[in-house]
Amino acid sequence: MINFNQPHLTGKEAHYMYEAVYAGKLSGNGRFTKACQAWFEQRYGFRKTLLTTSGTDALEMCAMLCNLKPGDEVIVPSYTFVSTALAFLREGAKVVFADSMKRNPNIDAETLEALITPHTKVIVPVHYAGVACDMDAIMAIAKKHNLLVVEDAAQAIDATYKGKPLGAIGHLAAFSFHETKNITAGGEGGLLVVNDERFVRRAEILWEKGTNRAEFFRGEVNKYGWVDMGSSFLPSEVNAAFLWAQLENIDEIQTKRKVLWETYYKCLKPLADKGCFSLPDIPDYASNNAHMFYLVLPNLEARTGLIKHLKENGVCAVFHYLSLHSSPYYKSKHDGRELLQCDRYADCLVRLPLFFDLSTDEVNHICDLIAAYYQ
Ligand SMILES: *Cc1c(COP(=O)(O)O)cnc(C)c1O
Repeated sequence: MINFNQPHLTGKEAHYMYEAVYAGKLSGNGRFTKACQAWFEQRYGFRKTLLTTSGTDALEMCAMLCNLKPGDEVIVPSYTFVSTALAFLREGAKVVFADSMKRNPNIDAETLEALITPHTKVIVPVHYAGVACDMDAIMAIAKKHNLLVVEDAAQAIDATYKGKPLGAIGHLAAFSFHETKNITAGGEGGLLVVNDERFVRRAEILWEKGTNRAEFFRGEVNKYGWVDMGSSFLPSEVNAAFLWAQLENIDEIQTKRKVLWETYYKCLKPLADKGCFSLPDIPDYASNNAHMFYLVLPNLEARTGLIKHLKENGVCAVFHYLSLHSSPYYKSKHDGRELLQCDRYADCLVRLPLFFDLSTDEVNHICDLIAAYYQ
């Protein structure tokens, strides 16, 4: 059986975790946490970063930093993981669902302005499959209407928009290091990115249960206290140590994933040209971080058939999101607008196995199985 996903170990994870364990400081914001944060800031030019216990937590911190009031509106895509909306709903905001583009599942910037009301405060573009949203268009709309932009960059590590790292463009951004992402912090983990200076101080306070402990440790205040809202968003040093091993190997991880992705693309191109399905779309402004390889089939029956065929032949391929606007919990919060592209991706998109320890032979084998299905 070829699994859909398998977490990759670079070899140094246990070593660094052992170091963290015997260093005598296990709680967060220690040596490994600081090393990871400095690495992200340096490599991607992020203004300020804070490791979190998950991508969801990083999004929750973003939502708290936006300082929303009841009745404020936040525009999110409907075709996304639930945390994109959940984080803002928890802050009392109303989520307004946007449709995806026809060319790929990212939020359709052209539909955004029609969704803006005097209550709109935030737009949350999700870089689906690590492929950039049209950030120039989104930032221009945000600027015009005085909105904040929070990038859900959970899948977008090491990807760019017009050469600029994703996560460095919005006022705030969130990454995930869940085991299904390109790099992992030992199963669960995330990163908050603060690009707008105005949010840096408060981000540190929210991160540490509403205390100004970070300032205290830097010697900027002589005692720390309870100064704001917050939660325990910081991970233990053991998770940071795991993540450090992955960061040291990110180029190797990315190179291998891209080889696998390109192998899929080349092998499946002839079938796509015949109209069996469409391949992932990477606009000129986006780079490919090989987070995901997906196909978009013509309809639900075709997708169900292909998944079944692959399963019978020992390959686990999976569909992806059920759109939020038609889900049991979020349906009642939606205004009833049709979101046709979201519905199409919910019915027609299938993801193929893609993980570091997959071989190009296995990818070729999967492509052969797909070709056999269409004969
Ligand atoms: C994975 C993911 C998240 C959540 O990240 P966790 O680390 O699992 O909490 C949020 N948004 C998107 C788009 C994701 O893919």
